[in-house]
Amino acid sequence: MKLENPNFAAPTDADDRKAIPPVICYPPETLTQPDLSALAKIRQGVSKTAEAIAAPRDAACIDVPAGAFVRVLSVDGPQVGDLNMWNKHDLSERFYSGKTRALHGTHLSTGDRMWSSFPNMRPMATVIDDTLDWYGFDAFGGSVHDVIGTRCDPYTGRLLTGDDYHYCCHSNLTRALASHCNLPLHEAEMLVHDVLNVFMCTGFTRDTGQYFMKASPVRPGDYLEFYAEIDLIVGLSACPGGDCSSEHSSDAAACYPLVMEVYDPGEDARAAHVLPARSAYDRSHGTG
Ligand SMILES: [Zn+2]
Repeated sequence: MKLENPNFAAPTDADDRKAIPPVICYPPETLTQPDLSALAKIRQGVSKTAEAIAAPRDAACIDVPAGAFVRVLSVDGPQVGDLNMWNKHDLSERFYSGKTRALHGTHLSTGDRMWSSFPNMRPMATVIDDTLDWYGFDAFGGSVHDVIGTRCDPYTGRLLTGDDYHYCCHSNLTRALASHCNLPLHEAEMLVHDVLNVFMCTGFTRDTGQYFMKASPVRPGDYLEFYAEIDLIVGLSACPGGDCSSEHSSDAAACYPLVMEVYDPGEDARAAHVLPARSAYDRSHGTG
């Protein structure tokens, strides 16, 4: 955080320097845009083939084949979800929250891609529907579906409070992935990564730049839906923070389940899906 009383005096041209307008770091215009109307057409011919429920303060994983759709659905009450994604055939290729943020901004919505980690760096999924897209940004600078938070975890809890809490999203996702892939717990833990905070309402305070959360506007029936660009395992934790209106690492908040539903357009439609290519960078890193 910045000092309230800086140690160094501002230079005489401080105002001029501060007045320089910002430039977007990664202008997205050169990115290939998803064909949302084509996806909407494919979506018309789907049938629901699978479902997994992330119980309150717990997580679930589900397989989603490339070319199918997965919907994260709010049921019963306002609830925030922490979402991870892995390549089903290579768990080292996983969702890269930081780069997704650099490319699409702090909060995702329809048309945004969820990018995978280096050296793959390709779209793992495309957001095709978001019933909370009306929210935009509120007066505090808050919005939903952020890629700025990390995930609630027992290590930060231990650091800040000295207590151990085992049902944080990090631990929930660890247990769910271990059980889904039959992995040792600690091996699964190393594959859990920074999340997409589905339905969570977050931002940075304008004056101090601190990460904040507030009660999610999500209500039962709201959903965020993705198109799977590659064969995926999707992990979802129903955060112990519930709607994240107060705290997120205890049993205090009211928590509700979240549902993941897979919608399959059929084998022919999936076979017509073109897998996104891995990054063409040659990985020589200046040594060639
Ligand atoms: Zn959480």
